[in-house]
Amino acid sequence: MKNSRNRTIVIAAELIIIGILFVCIGFNELKKDKKTRAYAGAETEVAADTVDIGDTKVPTSSNVKKDTPATPTPEPTPTLTPEEQAELERLAREEEERIAREKLEAEVDGILERTDLMAQMYDYDKAIETVKAVEGYESVERLSAAIASYEEQKSKLVKWPDNTQISHLFVHSLIVDTSLAFGKGSSQPVGYNRYMTTVDEFNKMLEQMYAKGYVIVSVHDMAERVVGEDGQEKLVMKDIWLPEGKIPFVLSQDDVNYYVYMQKNGFAERLVVGEDGLPTCEYIDKDGSVLYGEYDMVPIIDRFVREHPDFSYRGRKGILGITGFEGALGYDTGLSMKIYDGMSEADKMAKIEAQREEAIKVAEALKADGWEFASHSYTHSNMTDISVSKLEYDCQRWHDEVEIILGETDIYIYPYGADICNWRGYSGEKYELMKKYGFWYFCNVDSAQYWVQIRDGYFRQGRINADGERMVKTPEKLKYFFDVESVFDKTRPKLDL
Ligand SMILES: [Zn+2]
Repeated sequence: MKNSRNRTIVIAAELIIIGILFVCIGFNELKKDKKTRAYAGAETEVAADTVDIGDTKVPTSSNVKKDTPATPTPEPTPTLTPEEQAELERLAREEEERIAREKLEAEVDGILERTDLMAQMYDYDKAIETVKAVEGYESVERLSAAIASYEEQKSKLVKWPDNTQISHLFVHSLIVDTSLAFGKGSSQPVGYNRYMTTVDEFNKMLEQMYAKGYVIVSVHDMAERVVGEDGQEKLVMKDIWLPEGKIPFVLSQDDVNYYVYMQKNGFAERLVVGEDGLPTCEYIDKDGSVLYGEYDMVPIIDRFVREHPDFSYRGRKGILGITGFEGALGYDTGLSMKIYDGMSEADKMAKIEAQREEAIKVAEALKADGWEFASHSYTHSNMTDISVSKLEYDCQRWHDEVEIILGETDIYIYPYGADICNWRGYSGEKYELMKKYGFWYFCNVDSAQYWVQIRDGYFRQGRINADGERMVKTPEKLKYFFDVESVFDKTRPKLDL
């Protein structure tokens, strides 16, 4: 028994030795084979590197074979102890972390510039969220400190107590040059004197309103559309959070169309996209020079908010009411505009298409900059008196010609402030029609400090005109916002009302 077991062990040992020998021989052959193949590859490359001259292949300078020095015997790799290996890995890790930290530090200035602006505009949640989205923000002291500061400022905000107590101020296109607007060549000096505001007055209004603590909000901050549990969409009040002493208000501008009758009358010509990508105004002065800059509300508010970010709630600027019969934003996009009379349909459409493209660029820049649009109707008709069928025609044309430029909007600003229903509430065919065309927020004109209705189906707000007529006739209605006496432009002619 013992003998046979020993024999088995011997045979097994022999088999293992033979096995090892085979493996060694096989490995050597494989190495030889690899070398051959590598060499063959080199030969192929040389062949590819020859220049073809007639039938002969001439080697180029780069592929002339040189004597290859013998491969030096590699130094034996020193073996590391596990401790040394771990230390090496730790150092590599530290270096990697240091590089990542330095990269992050370099980005911190840019990040904080953006989040500080959000915080100044009271959007602390967005500022905190933005910082927290940065990978490794915890390791950068300035970012952690910023979060703590935003949290602290946020804790001091107070909820605006009643969204039905929010004012809405509006102006028309601003008068840049009063000598043109009220001068001999003016198309309607009395109209301008009544319904317009000068650039100078508007700047003073802003300064005073800012000093009083006013902050621009949107109607969309006052109430929002939500789908209820019953699947029905409805409006619900939205909370506005501001520091103690700040007062929300809505700002809008009517007829941002730069109508033909206003040309050469001391108003901006149109809105354009400036070299910085921001919207600005084109203005032609008395001498015919084309100028760009603060010639209307948009660039004026933009500059003011740049200087005072706390004048804007979460980046809001204002609402621009646009009609359609003479295009939009100063572009000739209206299908029935007189300038296209007598032109062939093809020429007219080519011109309109080019104007549309320009107008769309401006509209996009405005939206990206915090501005919102409202329909101010297509025909600028009185919506109290208009028939249901004419209202439908008007809404449809605005949809076809203006909405394709501005994009969808759910805000409607009534021409002349003439509402479709009285103060009691909305119902009836006109209201149903307005809803069909996607409008939820309606603005009329009212002389009260504020007037707001928020119902399931609609939001309605009265607006106060900050213009010549209001300043002359009932200046006391504006006292909540600014002091008329110090704002009033003394270059205005006397206004008899
Ligand atoms: Zn209007």
